[in-house]
Amino acid sequence: MELAAFDELKAKLWAFMHAHIYPNEREFAAQCREMARRSDEWTCPPLMLELQRKARQLGLWNLFLPVDSAAAAGVKGGGLTNRQYAEVCEILGTSSHAEFAAQATNCTSPDTGNMETLARYGSPEQRERWLLPLLEGRIRSCFAMTEPAVASSDATNIGISIERDSAAGEYVINGSKWWITGAGSLHCKIMILMGKTDAKAPLHRQQSQILVPMDTPGITLLRPLKAFGDDDAPKGHMEIQFDNVRVPFENVLLGEGRGFEISQGRLGPGRIHHCMRIIGQAERSLALMCKRISERRAFGKRLSEFDTILQDVANSRIELEACRLLIFRAAEMMDSHGNADARTRQYLAMVKAHVPRTCQTLVDRCIQAAHGALGVSEDTPLFAAFAGARALRIADGPDEVHLLTTAKIELKIQKHSPLASLGYYQADRTQVFRRSTDPISEEAQQRLDAASKL
Ligand SMILES: Cc1cc2nc3c(=O)[nH]c(=O)nc-3n(C[C@H](O)[C@H](O)[C@H](O)COP(=O)(O)OP(=O)(O)OC[C@H]3O[C@@H](n4cnc5c(N)ncnc54)[C@H](O)[C@@H]3O)c2cc1C
Repeated sequence: MELAAFDELKAKLWAFMHAHIYPNEREFAAQCREMARRSDEWTCPPLMLELQRKARQLGLWNLFLPVDSAAAAGVKGGGLTNRQYAEVCEILGTSSHAEFAAQATNCTSPDTGNMETLARYGSPEQRERWLLPLLEGRIRSCFAMTEPAVASSDATNIGISIERDSAAGEYVINGSKWWITGAGSLHCKIMILMGKTDAKAPLHRQQSQILVPMDTPGITLLRPLKAFGDDDAPKGHMEIQFDNVRVPFENVLLGEGRGFEISQGRLGPGRIHHCMRIIGQAERSLALMCKRISERRAFGKRLSEFDTILQDVANSRIELEACRLLIFRAAEMMDSHGNADARTRQYLAMVKAHVPRTCQTLVDRCIQAAHGALGVSEDTPLFAAFAGARALRIADGPDEVHLLTTAKIELKIQKHSPLASLGYYQADRTQVFRRSTDPISEEAQQRLDAASKL
């Protein structure tokens, strides 16, 4: 998008945030809580539908879908690059619930990652049936990978069984998944499920991703899991049992055994959005900290007059800017080199390893240094920002796995570094410092004698 139009779009988004998002944060939270309390039939709160209509009228819709993915699928996205969306996503992330504004603008997880997956890897029929209604916001989706029985941060462990029934032309799915975000909502109509289609294939060709309509017989939602006590209704993080769930062969994405290939492409956009939003959460927290320390007094002076608190402000600003620049760089790499490029993947891994933990520390500081008990209460959005950053360090794959990816790629990249041919200096062993039998000077002997008389 041209610079002037982009600036106009951001101004419009800020106006939308101030007119419709910030004033409605508590009402949205109350409606979500009420939904969870009332029944197991979770749907979008009425307030959300109203906001979605407004956002759409204003053209604040599907801004996440980058120009290249939209062009590949022949659909209309927001007309932004990933780099531009990083700025927009950050603004969306300033709402007290990190995904409140994102959902109002159809830019929420896990739909964004799923829509990009469908845009990039879906057949024309799959796109027609699922991508178009998702882009319209008429349905929602979920992504089912994690399983209770195995360490799911290692995707080669994913083992839910997907067997072929050739006579019926169907896959039969049996097993269980958990922490499946979005599956709790009745609006969720489609699941992208990763499972094992061929246990004998090479390690990275065993899994496939399959489209499973949520109304298929045999799917049981066992319970909504709670992250730090929050069920995130009406999306929910569901534990799901699959008993002889049957879907036709044509529901496989891209082809059998290509689940990993899709994951690698998916790891880009849909996943980095969480980190973009969390920058917004950190900005909101820092703004609160600065406000609070300018107003509150202790031990005879304003909190903003204490050196340690000023250092906290400075460190927070430095860390936040460093995170933002890392995200911008990763987004530029996606735009210029694509998501599968090794360097892009390294940037994405660095972002995921670094940004959530840094923002968690930053928000913690905003609570500790400026807010006291208020900081852990429900009267500020700080506790939610803290819990969100903490959970993200697992939800988006654990820090350790992103560090591992970063390091593995680094070792490969280093082989081609212009500095790779530079080694160590050769030690010169032709010169001798002294031999044990060399005579010593009179002066040295006197120093030794002095020491021996101590
Ligand atoms: C709020 C939330 C939402 C989620 N939403 C979804 C969703 O929509 N869909 C979905 O499929 N999943 C979802 N998940 C699950 C999430 O993706 C997994 O929890 C995550 O990938 C880790 O898998 P695991 O829980 O099986 O941990 P495990 O794989 O069992 O790992 C346990 C711990 O082992 C350590 N570890 C693992 N590998 C290494 C290593 N190489 N080096 C050092 N230490 C290591 C890590 O510290 C890790 O925390 C969600 C999780 C949360 C909390």
